[in-house]
Amino acid sequence: MSQTHTESGLGKIPVTSILGVNVSKLNMADTVRALEGAVASGRPHQIITANPIMIMAALDSEDNMRAMREAELIVPDGAGVVWAAEEFGDPVAERVAGFDLLHQLMKRGEELGWSAYLLGAAEEVVQEAADRLQKQYPKVRIAGVRNGYFGESENARIVADIRAAKPDLLFVARDAKTQEPWIAKYKQELGVPVIMGVGGSFDVISGKTKRAPAVMQKMKLEWFYRLAKEPTRLPRMMALPQFMRAVKKAKKA
Ligand code: UDP
Repeated sequence: MSQTHTESGLGKIPVTSILGVNVSKLNMADTVRALEGAVASGRPHQIITANPIMIMAALDSEDNMRAMREAELIVPDGAGVVWAAEEFGDPVAERVAGFDLLHQLMKRGEELGWSAYLLGAAEEVVQEAADRLQKQYPKVRIAGVRNGYFGESENARIVADIRAAKPDLLFVARDAKTQEPWIAKYKQELGVPVIMGVGGSFDVISGKTKRAPAVMQKMKLEWFYRLAKEPTRLPRMMALPQFMRAVKKAKKA
């Protein structure tokens, strides 16, 4: 089941297939190293931080599946994805959470003089997230900031602004169902070497919401923490048992 996936700028990435989605088996340190190659290449790369909700969205929607197929790198963000790889007998090295990867990239960006553009979330949230990241990583240039509430008619201008800003990293914080197809559609035009959907990360960085305590993350209960904080997430969460059933079924087949 293990395959090797070669992509420009990234080198060889070992992957494991989860319900038709090729997830990277690299650990965090090797993921950051691979993405350094992506920045050096200057060519656009879409990094998807896959969790069970996103994999179920891909099985449900052609746009989401296309984004998964065309992504240059898919990392195992959710504990459920790590579990599924184990179930299929082809485990990943470790969980590579999008939130942690964002910070690791900013850290490496300090050493290499990268710039970052933040797109997504509410205006005050993205501004505060940019301020806090700038304080934490003063040597990374914030190339631009834009909130995530815009319609079709604004896409062309937003894409042109980001392209003109020429960042090394573009973090896109929008809802899981639309952020990946949006990045897939515009990545060539955006021309940014590392483009990564980060979902609710700006809300956490800005202090608007809290990430689950480390102990809950270790117990693989981050999803439960998020559900308890935001009960409106329940319908989305139904993807979790569906994902587990789909994995069990595929394992038997
Ligand atoms: N968001 C956005 N534009 C939208 C919808 C959502 O910028 O049209 C932002 C929202 O403010 C939040 C992030 O996307 O910062 C993730 O939203 P949510 O938690 O609802 O998405 P999920 O990750 O659960 O799909």
